[in-house]
Amino acid sequence: MIISIMGAWKAARASHLKYMQNIALGALKATGTRLSSSSFLLSLLADDIETLAVGSPSELRKVVENVRRAFSRPFPCGNYNEFLLECRRILNYERFRDDRDGAWNAYRLCAMAGNSMCPYCQLEETKTVIREGGVAGIRQELDHYYCQSKFPFLALSLYNLVPSCAHCNSALKRDKNFISLPHLHPFEDDEVIKIDIDIDSYMQIMHTPTAIAEFVLVGLDNGDPAMEKSIAASKRTFMLKERYQNEGDKLRNFLDRLLMVRCGDSELRLAISSKALDESVFMNFDCKDYKNARLGSAKRSLWELVPSE
Ligand SMILES: [Zn+2]
Repeated sequence: MIISIMGAWKAARASHLKYMQNIALGALKATGTRLSSSSFLLSLLADDIETLAVGSPSELRKVVENVRRAFSRPFPCGNYNEFLLECRRILNYERFRDDRDGAWNAYRLCAMAGNSMCPYCQLEETKTVIREGGVAGIRQELDHYYCQSKFPFLALSLYNLVPSCAHCNSALKRDKNFISLPHLHPFEDDEVIKIDIDIDSYMQIMHTPTAIAEFVLVGLDNGDPAMEKSIAASKRTFMLKERYQNEGDKLRNFLDRLLMVRCGDSELRLAISSKALDESVFMNFDCKDYKNARLGSAKRSLWELVPSE
């Protein structure tokens, strides 16, 4: 993950909780006398629907652990496969995903997302446009951070749904198990993957057409081995090294322009220091709004690396 989107679902929280409470009520009424797998799903729906609906990632991991314990030998509380089937039937993501004109569905949820770039890569936009009349339209993908195939009880959990791009969700992440192999989480981790470059060396070679500017992705793990592993896993799964290498020309153009405005052209520097010209406008980049710009986090790293005179 490149950017944190902790507040992305703030506006959607209340509607999603209500939707989930209605699902739980309906399921409890319908299945109260004939629940086939176990009373475990009933207790999740009856006692813990708020956690299931809008619980934080750490609360969702506790649910995963509780499910694991409940169905472990020697005294499993029911048949695990039946439990999973029942979860898929009741906490039905496909129904939520495919509903095109309901009061609350994946389109309405995505329309309320607070992020406009994929948090895993910050290379692709995540856009939702609803048709006039409130019927479906186009929307970003929702990645199940803890995959549906293994954790269907989290299929509709708001903080398990990451608004992201098709490359990251469908092509790269797919069904990888992020419980057994932790990655950086856009809803709870800090932004610890940064772009770095040796500015002094770069300035020496910047006018050499054949020189290669080496932008590297660094992980700020603060010596924490668990964080180091999560950073490495995120870089690997989402092909961040390769994808950012592929953006080298764009980063180089941005850096050249930044060096020109801060260390080069004296007229430009004068215009900016006298406030006749706004640096953000000239650079077409607002550092304060870096989360909503393509390559915004990388540009922000460069912005901070090049000294302002
Ligand atoms: Zn992405």
